Amino acid sequence: MSKYAKILVDIPVEELDQSFDYRVPEKYRDIISIGQAVMVPFGPRKVTGFVIGLTDESEVEESKIREISRIIFTDTFFDEELLELFQWMSVYYKAKLINIIKTAVPAGVISGQLKKKTLRIVKLNTAKYKIEEYINNEGKKAYKQVEVLEILLNSDRDYTATELARLAGTSTSTITRLVEKGLLKYEEIVQERRPYLGEDIKRERPHEANPWQREVITRIKEQLDKATYGAFLLHGVTGSGKTEVYLQVIDYALQKSLGAIVLVPEISLTPLMVRRFYSRFGDQIAILHSNLSAGERYDEWRRLKRGEARIAIGARSAVFAPVKNLGLIIIDEEHENTYKQGEYPYYHSREVALKRSKITGSTVILGSATPSLESYYLMRKGVFRLLELPERIKQKSLPPVELIDMREELRKGNTGIFSYQLQEAIRDALGRKEQALVFLNRRGYASFLFCRECGQAIKCKNCDITLTYHASIDKLRCHYCDFLMSRPASCPHCGGNYLREYGHGTERIEEELKELFPGAVIARMDLDTTGRKGAHQEILEKMERGEIDILVGTQMIAKGHDYPNIGVVGVISADTMLNIPDFRAAERTFQLLTQVAGRTGRGDKKGLVFIQTFNPEHYSIQAARNHDYLQFYQQEIENRKLFGYPPYTLLTNIIVRGEVEQQVIEAAMALDAFLQKYGKLILEVLGPGEAPIGKLRNNYRWQIILKFRTYKERNFVLTRLREFLVEKGRKEVVYNIDVDPLMML
Ligand code: ADP
Ligand code: ZN
Repeated sequence: MSKYAKILVDIPVEELDQSFDYRVPEKYRDIISIGQAVMVPFGPRKVTGFVIGLTDESEVEESKIREISRIIFTDTFFDEELLELFQWMSVYYKAKLINIIKTAVPAGVISGQLKKKTLRIVKLNTAKYKIEEYINNEGKKAYKQVEVLEILLNSDRDYTATELARLAGTSTSTITRLVEKGLLKYEEIVQERRPYLGEDIKRERPHEANPWQREVITRIKEQLDKATYGAFLLHGVTGSGKTEVYLQVIDYALQKSLGAIVLVPEISLTPLMVRRFYSRFGDQIAILHSNLSAGERYDEWRRLKRGEARIAIGARSAVFAPVKNLGLIIIDEEHENTYKQGEYPYYHSREVALKRSKITGSTVILGSATPSLESYYLMRKGVFRLLELPERIKQKSLPPVELIDMREELRKGNTGIFSYQLQEAIRDALGRKEQALVFLNRRGYASFLFCRECGQAIKCKNCDITLTYHASIDKLRCHYCDFLMSRPASCPHCGGNYLREYGHGTERIEEELKELFPGAVIARMDLDTTGRKGAHQEILEKMERGEIDILVGTQMIAKGHDYPNIGVVGVISADTMLNIPDFRAAERTFQLLTQVAGRTGRGDKKGLVFIQTFNPEHYSIQAARNHDYLQFYQQEIENRKLFGYPPYTLLTNIIVRGEVEQQVIEAAMALDAFLQKYGKLILEVLGPGEAPIGKLRNNYRWQIILKFRTYKERNFVLTRLREFLVEKGRKEVVYNIDVDPLMML
């Protein structure tokens, strides 16, 4: 029973990040609640908004208060705890509250596109004995009708008229006639759209925990018993049974009537992982994944809200899942970049999960074989408690890793992509009827067209990025804006006629493998071959069934899949990622190599891993070879300290972009001048300068990177900065504040 509601309106004006009071019409006073979407008058228009507060008194003069037009959804999209989380995010990430809410609630809600999908089914309209009477009396004349009625009498499932007619071998007019006679009726039911989970998933029983797992599980259960906030870093090598731990502690949470969220990186949300959860918990899980249609997502979301599903499993945005009585959040592969949203609002799911757990008094588990430097550092500071699974299940050993010095290979006269050793190892594996994985760092890596006369590569006209050459379609493509062009006859820079393909993309490697191993079945997995829905899964299943001998791929093959029959893993070049101009390059290299190496040695076979590199001495490559996280961590944390990078400092990247270069530069300069005033509170200002990708989708980009000592100082400066942008920012350019940036390109 509230007279007024505080409404956050959805208008694309940066200044307006506040709520407005509206009067609640009499008829809505009993049902209005926080988290509902409403339609309200705003100026001359009607706009959508969210209820974020209710009150019986307003400070606004009664005559100036306008009335809510209608409630769009009586379902609430968030409760007070989630609202608190959104408000925290708005402050921390310097983003408008409405944009946070729009990111967090199921897509399509605000635009009102989401409708419950209904289905018209056929039902009996009278008592069974009356139907039977009818069958006895009319049966001889109307055998088709009898057929229809008998199907309905003998089945408990629902049929549409079309289904029923097909089953009875008749047309829908038979059903219409029965409806007219009052024997049948139509009924609208809400149809749940459930994502496809594969057929016949068997219920799986828990494994008996090994001693390491038992210890870890006990500690987590003790925390769950306390029902307060508590955070763990679960450091377990690949194949050490982390997922089994998740499954068992979730089971315990359910017994205590607590709900759970499981976050997985987008890419490793493979059917295998989902199947494992499904086989343990059945319909108690709800899947929130970007591959689902908006309708499917919305239905899964509602199952959680109604408490029918108790476990949400999904990528980044599943951290907002409306799980009832939340008690546990698990972040699998917590070091993954996909947890950071790469566009406004730039939130990081791990940070958000930690905050949500504090608000709700939940337990958080950050799991990884290669924890992010930040998380390990925080664990050492006592912010997270450490749990370890140092051994693989059943004492399987981690695979031996061999580094291949490609400089040596050149000296031996091998200018090809594959070292002699790797070729031999693949040949041996194939001979033993085992499979091989060949890993390349990036899709179409460095496969570009290059002019041998002027030395220039062909670049995208919208972005300052080299175009990737795709041999199979003989075209050049920009992997940022998707610009596509045919292969030019001559160099666009100098008119020269000697354009040459350079570098090795996954396609080149596939070609070369076909030549080296003519009898082998070779498949490729990258964004090009998996664009179609389900394609990714198809390749994985073929691999699982042993129908592929050699799988070539990018990052996608590095994660989450378990194949017992892999005899060799080859990494074409460990250096590509090492050379990316980013202070996290060494960390990413270590994580990736460790993960790739973890793909083998899982079954009964002993797997071999070969890493080709021009930098075999580099510490991240050495540490990956030794499967030694601490060796890596100790070296890397020293470097971070020396150069003043996170976790020793707090970074913020301010990106300015626009279509007119001069305006972008002026805007960046004005920002810089403004920031000078706060010199004492900022540890260091890098820039302003052109961003590493200076032009993207026809926008020029400049950036200023700020380093801060404390959260407090950062928050103070960024708050002033935002006020400045709202008042004095140029309308022709877009400003993005990326708090804790991961990629600075
Ligand atoms: P991780 O998530 O650390 O990579 P998993 O939980 O996937 O490890 O475990 C690796 C494999 O070992 C899986 O096939 C899993 O079913 C199996 N497994 C896990 N725990 C046990 C156990 N206690 N006993 C037997 N097998 C186990
Ligand atoms: Zn482009």
